[in-house]
Amino acid sequence: MAHVDCDAFYASCETARHPELKGRPVCVLSSQSAIVVAKSYDAKALGITTGMPVWEARKLAPQAVFLASDFRYYGQMSDKVFAILHSCTPDIEIYSIDEGFMDMNGIRSLWRKSFVQLADDIRQRIWQQTGITVSVGIANTRTLAKMASESCKPNGSRIVPGKRIDAFLADIAVTDIPGVGRNRGALLHKFNIHTALQFARLDDALMNRLMGRSGLQLKYELSGRVVWPLALKPELPKSVARTASMGQVTQDRQIVMAYLSYHVMRLVSELVAKHLLTKSIFLFLTLASFERCGLQMPLEVPTNSLKRVMDAVKQGLVRLYRDGVKYRGCGVVAKRISREQSATTDLFGLMQQDTRQTALMQSVNAINRKYGNRTLSSAAACRIKPKSAGLRFHYPLITAYC
Ligand SMILES: [Mg+2]
Repeated sequence: MAHVDCDAFYASCETARHPELKGRPVCVLSSQSAIVVAKSYDAKALGITTGMPVWEARKLAPQAVFLASDFRYYGQMSDKVFAILHSCTPDIEIYSIDEGFMDMNGIRSLWRKSFVQLADDIRQRIWQQTGITVSVGIANTRTLAKMASESCKPNGSRIVPGKRIDAFLADIAVTDIPGVGRNRGALLHKFNIHTALQFARLDDALMNRLMGRSGLQLKYELSGRVVWPLALKPELPKSVARTASMGQVTQDRQIVMAYLSYHVMRLVSELVAKHLLTKSIFLFLTLASFERCGLQMPLEVPTNSLKRVMDAVKQGLVRLYRDGVKYRGCGVVAKRISREQSATTDLFGLMQQDTRQTALMQSVNAINRKYGNRTLSSAAACRIKPKSAGLRFHYPLITAYC
């Protein structure tokens, strides 16, 4: 199996269409421009992390470029990448907006190339046709392939043949195994398991006790036995959720909203990547007492528009939020999922408005790109002070601040 993963995807997409940004640290911001949702390797090297508030990132790296996110565009770039993969093999699992698995059985003889050549070809073609770099890992199982691509980032290829699995795993920390989080890692450390190889060699009974059935499955995957085959024809999910603890207890509405907007961004990015639409959003808040309160919000039309989903969540928060109450977590769940292709045109043309809105904004951006930022802008954005205009206004896809 091959795992193909785009390097710093959102930031790479931005540098692909703004070559002048190459070599500069690039950060992509959440829809409200409150936090950094993605960063280039240069930005990472300066200490900027995903989820960091913008003001903190600016202080850390005043020379960095901060850009509003543009999920329609990232979705289009993702389609281009997957179209290239599809021309190599029909059997592909789209895992997320920027990574996928390929079934490589028989592919070597089909193209009369070695795995190394195939991996290098894929990287080169994607680079030539999209301007973004990817990393490719090839191994017996999806877990090994993912770890292989991770180990050669950015812009690398790594093949792990069956007989070299042990040597490969010996160099990888147990916490770098996909699915082993910080907590599980700490537990494993107590049992003196520090490398992925030690994990793969752990006694079945002990593994079962430490990590249950999923731990055992992971262990088999690491030893080269396929437990999780590729999902080539994915079923329609009942729901798509993005939730997390905030890592703090807070009664600051803006912090809650910042986290929610981060969740909405990731949720919409997954919907766009998988060509799915949602007709209903469930928003919930977790109180300091771990109690939950939630609100179901039907949407006017099936959509994966960031604006529509964000508007619904903002309105929902107004109804759900209570002053003086402490919150520790929040989340958004998309329900009533359908496929983009099967969507029927709605009576009032609202869905068409979504696409028309996108087309309009693309033209605005083209003009601004040619004649300078904010040659065309929304009236609302003009009322905001210039310094923060691009950061608050939702759409300017090319506004860059230094
Ligand atoms: Mg990636």
